[in-house]
Amino acid sequence: MSRYSRQTILAEIGVEGQAILEKARVLCVGVGGLGSPAAMYLAAAGLGTLGVIDGDVVDATNLQRQVLFTEANIGQSKVQAAAERLRAMNSALDLRVFDQHLDASNALKIFADYDIVLDGTDNFAAKFLINDACVKLGLPMVYGSISQFEGQVSVFWAERGPCYRCLHPAPPKSRIQNCAESGVLGGIAGVIGSMMAMETIKVLLLKAGHVSRLNPLVGRLQIVDLATNEMMNLQVPKRAGCALCRGSREQIVLQDLAPISCQASASKPIRHDELCEALAGEAIKVLDVRELQEWTHGHLAGSFHFALSRLESEELPQLAPETPLIVICQAGVRSKRAEQILRNRGFQDVRNFPAGINGWTGELQAESLQAP
Ligand SMILES: [Zn+2]
Repeated sequence: MSRYSRQTILAEIGVEGQAILEKARVLCVGVGGLGSPAAMYLAAAGLGTLGVIDGDVVDATNLQRQVLFTEANIGQSKVQAAAERLRAMNSALDLRVFDQHLDASNALKIFADYDIVLDGTDNFAAKFLINDACVKLGLPMVYGSISQFEGQVSVFWAERGPCYRCLHPAPPKSRIQNCAESGVLGGIAGVIGSMMAMETIKVLLLKAGHVSRLNPLVGRLQIVDLATNEMMNLQVPKRAGCALCRGSREQIVLQDLAPISCQASASKPIRHDELCEALAGEAIKVLDVRELQEWTHGHLAGSFHFALSRLESEELPQLAPETPLIVICQAGVRSKRAEQILRNRGFQDVRNFPAGINGWTGELQAESLQAP
């Protein structure tokens, strides 16, 4: 036990918590940028069983962020290389290796032996599949996603909160860039992967009835932007119309979707002239997310109003997710948050005007609320 004394001394873990971890069975889907730090911290923490599934081979471009691997592993199977490293870290770990890609035909059989599933994948198809299989089996899913300097973490656990489809009802129709195309700096994978290991431990303890102040991200999405060091913690409600976690588990049928990459980060901010064009036309809606009194005091002609404070918990009325949107507030901070919320609700074309009303050089009109 002295090996784990630095964590058993914590009141929230203790000897009892450590015994829970030593019996726990965790499956890590993907041992790339997120799976590497997550699996390493879990192995180091004295986990009982760790399954790793990945059908890829280590290549040189992985080494910049996939810290499980060394140059000597280039060309080798990722899970075999990962297993060797993880066993060296902790010989007591019962390590199970699945040298294959996850798909609708193998997911349930593999997942059934585990208490929790970590999503270290980088595409929507895999995330939907993991979510659907977890909801069907009643398992919590620790979700992570990274792009460029930004990342997201959450816990989807249909029995206690929303599922991934409550946040994203369906995969986006348009193709979104992956890490290879949009780039990523290694450290963000380390941050998000480590947070996923923390969430896994918190959920395992909670699931086993070990109640403490440790509060996993169930129903919350943590967004970390290491370009600006802005952190956001968004509420993710269990969606009333969620076809997956509101229905019966028996009726869930797993499907293999065409791979669509995920991108956690926002799109390019829009310029002043683009905003003027949008206000003058009909094709792009301009949404002002300031509070009502700020809007009444003065706003852009051609914009419509829905305050961020309402957007956190309410759906934007009468707007299809395909609608192109520009979001504006006073100084660009609230609109950035609104952009994230809308993007996470499936709005595919949302852009922020970072200069806000403060940076607007034209006229403002003052009048009562306009309907969208
Ligand atoms: Zn759901």
